[in-house]
Amino acid sequence: MGYDQDGSSVTARLASGDRVTGSLLIGADGLWSNIRKRVTADGPPRVSGHTTYRSVIPTEEMPEDLRWNAATLWAGPKCHLVHYPLSGWKVFNLVVTYHNDAPEPVAGKPVSEAEVMKGFAHIHQRAQNIIRHGQNWKLWVLCDRDPTERWIDGRVALLGDAAHPMLQYFAQGACQAMEDAVCLSHMLGSHPGDHATALEKYRAQRFPRTARVQLLSRAIGEHIYHPAGEHARLRNAIMGAKTSEDYYKDLAWLYGGTGLQG
Ligand SMILES: Cc1cc2nc3c(=O)[nH]c(=O)nc-3n(C[C@H](O)[C@H](O)[C@H](O)COP(=O)(O)OP(=O)(O)OC[C@H]3O[C@@H](n4cnc5c(N)ncnc54)[C@H](O)[C@@H]3O)c2cc1C
Repeated sequence: MGYDQDGSSVTARLASGDRVTGSLLIGADGLWSNIRKRVTADGPPRVSGHTTYRSVIPTEEMPEDLRWNAATLWAGPKCHLVHYPLSGWKVFNLVVTYHNDAPEPVAGKPVSEAEVMKGFAHIHQRAQNIIRHGQNWKLWVLCDRDPTERWIDGRVALLGDAAHPMLQYFAQGACQAMEDAVCLSHMLGSHPGDHATALEKYRAQRFPRTARVQLLSRAIGEHIYHPAGEHARLRNAIMGAKTSEDYYKDLAWLYGGTGLQG
């Protein structure tokens, strides 16, 4: 629920009333982080207005002609669908998103297929047909935050979504959280007994990369995944003019290494 610290230790206060004392407290408590409320104190996350539905389809129930071993994106006006195989080809992950200015955050609420279809009545029949193969749909209204460098308060540091929640358009939230953990462990190992330097070096190394992913995730949601009309035609012209090599080069900063150098 919160923490207290002095010059030699930090104590986490739990909802049960228990207290746990240690050398450092890492706030890896997600989008709605209690630890962030104290470290950063920047209010609730920003509601994107984008609604995402997720379903997992057994491979044999996925339309046969779409059982591709590749991440596949269908983009339509203000909406998109993504599907790809998971778990050694046993199931397909199907994630469909539309921009409906949803005002309230929602996380993992079960919904009916009829509710999912409401946002996709305007798209091609073939894409609608994929959605009809979904089952056990769950709904998220996605949130993120503006980047901030306030991740550290003395012996307390934020990590993952608590530090840099991002929209899922780069599929990077969990990846960046894992990179944070590797970097933090490396910095603590490199500066034994000097938590202040270790935490500051962790923050300094991780902030630029995670901020870039946060902001570009928003931008690609707006300009690549969800444009409509002329905006979509412009996207098609720009993206259609690029070669595969161009895309690899554009994304090398993100996917071309671990991001842990330096
Ligand atoms: C629809 C959707 C699709 C996504 N797709 C991808 C993707 O393809 N690739 C990707 O990399 N990321 C993706 N993400 C993002 C990814 O799920 C998150 O970025 C990632 O889970 C963040 O990890 P975390 O450990 O920081 O936080 P979380 O996974 O949220 O973990 C925080 C943990 O803290 C616990 N906790 C919180 N408060 C307390 C408390 N007071 N006491 C005790 N425990 C507490 C929570 O129960 C939870 O277990 C997606 C997210 C969504 C919503």
